[in-house]
Amino acid sequence: MGELRVSGSKQLVDTYGRVHRDLRVSLTDRCSLRCTYCMPADFSDWIANDKLLSTDELITVIGLCVDAGITQVRLTGGEPLLRRDIVEVVRRINELPQPPRISLTTNALRLAEVAQELKDAGLTRVNVSLDTLDPVRFKEMTHRDRFHDVIEGIEAAKAAGLTPLKVNAVLLKGVNDDEAIPLLKHALANDWNLRFIEQMPLDAGDLWARPVMVTADEIQSELEREFELTPVPSRGSAPAEEFYVNGGPETVGIIASVTRPFCAACDRLRLTADGQFRNCLFAREETDVRAILRSGLPQSEIDAGVQAIIESVTKSKLPGHGINDPNFIKPDRPMSAIGG
Ligand code: SAM
Ligand code: SF4
Repeated sequence: MGELRVSGSKQLVDTYGRVHRDLRVSLTDRCSLRCTYCMPADFSDWIANDKLLSTDELITVIGLCVDAGITQVRLTGGEPLLRRDIVEVVRRINELPQPPRISLTTNALRLAEVAQELKDAGLTRVNVSLDTLDPVRFKEMTHRDRFHDVIEGIEAAKAAGLTPLKVNAVLLKGVNDDEAIPLLKHALANDWNLRFIEQMPLDAGDLWARPVMVTADEIQSELEREFELTPVPSRGSAPAEEFYVNGGPETVGIIASVTRPFCAACDRLRLTADGQFRNCLFAREETDVRAILRSGLPQSEIDAGVQAIIESVTKSKLPGHGINDPNFIKPDRPMSAIGG
């Protein structure tokens, strides 16, 4: 099917008819935390600096993706706020001829410092990751004593108008699975839009095992001990199943990538920090955009080469990620390198 023109604007359509509008861009694989379910405390297998895309290279690829039909760009990592020129990256994306909506997923450690500048540069929203309300447990879960920086970051984002403020939490059995209800109570009291994410087989170690992960069903039943949850209709391509809490208008989300996959509605493409283009978080293959960007060819040929990759990677997207297939093999790279 490929690329179609509809009402004068292009669309990136795969062979299953899914229209791709959302690009996830990893700005770095480095991180200021070591969340146990994401990377080991002594992780050191970083991407070499000379392989990371420069800001000019990033903007070229993002611009071509926007020309091809992308309307929403989410900056992630690793920890995207570790990129020194993060404000410039946002500003330059926002200066594209048809700027996409720009959002950011962050651990929030540096957010208090840059929230207002990011808003002024064109950022619309942030998703903050926070798995516990207990500072001691936070230190155990992340190997860093930075709980209060996250809370300050969240407050700064709200003050800067980076709203609705979404907070993502991963629950681990026997670690923080007693916090589903306290997290939701706190979120309701502080105007956070809370979403629980099922733990996925994407860590840099070999931690994930289906029997020990906390499932969406378990999260829902736990929340229903305290709250009445009613499904919100019309989920669209959003990964989270949303529920009204006690009749609404507040909601809580559950992202059940493992037990209730939403691949049929997926509209996401991905660019890694070292310039590899992917059509799925779980894809076994990725296509090298960096080599073309650095080929020394005239700009028009570089642009044509990158455009061809954007289209072919979209077209080759599989119908689903296959986690539930007994032959599932996790990707060669962890989520921190691919970009969550
Ligand atoms: N460092 C930023 C952060 O933590 O928000 C952005 C990157 S992080 C990889 C993006 C999201 O992925 C976070 O919400 C994190 O909790 C989640 N995540 C990381 N590893 C995961 C895993 N194995 N399963 C499920 N979610 C995971
Ligand atoms: Fe860093 Fe985010 Fe991974 Fe935590 S989840 S280690 S904050 S990349």
